Amino acid sequence: RPRLRLFDLPLDVINLSDTLTLLGDWLADPARRPHTVVTLNPEIIVQARSHPEFARAVQDADLVTADGVGIVYAARQLHAEEVPRAPGFDIVRGLMQRHGAELRVFFLGAKPGVAEAAAQNAVRDYGVVVAGIHHGYFGPEDDERVARLIGDSGANLLLTAMGAGRQEVFNGQWRGVLGVPVMIGCGGVIDVLAG
Ligand code: UDP
Repeated sequence: RPRLRLFDLPLDVINLSDTLTLLGDWLADPARRPHTVVTLNPEIIVQARSHPEFARAVQDADLVTADGVGIVYAARQLHAEEVPRAPGFDIVRGLMQRHGAELRVFFLGAKPGVAEAAAQNAVRDYGVVVAGIHHGYFGPEDDERVARLIGDSGANLLLTAMGAGRQEVFNGQWRGVLGVPVMIGCGGVIDVLAG
């Protein structure tokens, strides 16, 4: 797939349907190679300019999609390219619709209790299996403990919703320990799933 550069960050030209197919391939890979997905938005671009570790997490991501129209407009203005949107929420919902019970989901993020509600709804609506749950309010001193918990959980899909920046850096920095085939930084998605 073609990859553009937008403000020194990568951006893949890929639509939602092709994104879901690619992530489906990663899920089906028996080698369980870890992959990170970033859904790019203007907030991430601004933050990455002053946080090198954040820029690194986006640079190293296996897939960077356009989360919203802000990125679509920027790509049009700067590159005269039409980049389709593949927003985080649509990716997560699409994966759950397509793969249902094949998914072992780890819900990481949001305030205590919210990820539990999101997990319950995802089980009810899509039949996914819950690999684990952890709230998103812990400091860097607990990163390794949480990463190992996730690594040991057998998850094949990690939803990391801890706010733009923090979530991408967590997935990127701990990718080897996490070892999850599909890891997505997905902002408010756990709140939305919780209803
Ligand atoms: N969040 C979290 N830990 C934090 C900050 C935020 O788990 O330290 C969660 C928050 O509860 C929400 C999600 O991350 O579920 C997105 O938060 P917010 O909209 O504030 O972040 P943004 O993506 O706009 O930066």
